[in-house]
Amino acid sequence: MFRKKLWVMAAFSAALSGAVAAQPVPQLTLHDGLTVPQLGCGVWELDGREAYASVSAAIKLGYRLIDTAQYYQNEAETYQAVLDSGIPRSEFFITSKLNPRYSSEQEIRKALDRSLQNMGGTIDLMLIHWPFGADELAWRIMEEYVRAGKFKAIGLSNYHPDALKRMLKIATIKPQVNQIEFHPYNSKLDELAQNQDLGVTVEAWSPLGAGRQKVMADPVIESIARAHGKSTAQVILRWDIQHGVITIPRSRNPRHLQENIEVGDFELSAQEMQDIDALNKNAALWDI
Ligand code: NAD
Repeated sequence: MFRKKLWVMAAFSAALSGAVAAQPVPQLTLHDGLTVPQLGCGVWELDGREAYASVSAAIKLGYRLIDTAQYYQNEAETYQAVLDSGIPRSEFFITSKLNPRYSSEQEIRKALDRSLQNMGGTIDLMLIHWPFGADELAWRIMEEYVRAGKFKAIGLSNYHPDALKRMLKIATIKPQVNQIEFHPYNSKLDELAQNQDLGVTVEAWSPLGAGRQKVMADPVIESIARAHGKSTAQVILRWDIQHGVITIPRSRNPRHLQENIEVGDFELSAQEMQDIDALNKNAALWDI
C-alpha cells in the first residue's frame, strides 16, 4: 500500500516536470462561435486531493479543458489547481454541472452560487447534470446567469433527443453542449447525428468505458492501435475527435494523462472509423 502511494507520488512529480504534449490539442467551435479544446480531463470519482493532483499534472501536460460537477464534490480543489498553475485563467475552459436534486428556484440559485464561489466567480460552461423535474426552471435561471456574465456558456448532460427537443422549445439561449455517455461499446451514432443537426456539440463522458468495460482491450481497436503505433486509449480518443465530439478522459496516472493528450499526430482512415463504429453494443454503463 505504502509502496503504491510512493509510486503515485513519484509518477506525479515526473509528470509535473514533464513536457507539454508535442501536438496541440484540436479546437472545436460551438454554435455561438466559442472555441474550445476538443480534449480535456474529467475528475469524477477523484476526491479533492486526487482531483488537485490530477488536474495539476494535466495542466502541466497542456490540458486546458477541465470537467467537474457539484456531484463530484471537488470543484474547489479542481479550481485551486488551475489557480496554482500560474497560467492565466482565460486560457482554461472549465465545466461544472448543476446537481439535479433541487426543486425550488431558491435552492437552484443557491447551488449555482455555491459553484461560482468554489470556482472564482465565473464558469465557462455550466451543464444540467441530468434531466429532472425542475430543469426548465433551472435553464431559465442559468440563462439569466449567462446574461449576467457569470457563465460563458450553458448546456445539458444526459439528454436523450426527446428531452433535448423539449428544452430547445423553452430555451432562449440554445444549449451549446450535450454531455452523454459515448464510447465504442455505446456509440449512439444516431443520437450524435441528431445533436449535431440541432447545432448542439456532443461531449463524450466515460470515453474509455470508465475502466469498467473492456473497450480498451477490444481486439479490433488493438489491431488499429498496433497499425498506428498507438495505444487503444489513444485510438478511441482519436475516434471521438474525428466524430466531432469533445472528449474528457479521466486518469490519476500521469503516464495515461500524457498518453491521452497525444492524439493530434495521427489520423484514422474512413475504414478504421467504420470498424470502430461497428463495435457498438448499446452497452450503457448507467441507466440515465
Ligand atoms: P473514462 O472513460 O475516462 O475512464 C477512466 C478509466 O480509464 C480510469 O480507470 C482510468 O484509470 C483509465 N484510463 C484513463 N486513461 C487510460 C489510458 N491511457 N490507458 C489505460 N487506462 C486509462 O471514465 P469516466 O471518468 O467515467 O469519464 C470521464 C469523465 O467524464 C469523468 O471523469 C467526468 O468528468 C465525466 N463524466 C460525466 C458524466 C455525466 O453524467 N455527465 C458521467 C460520467 C463521467
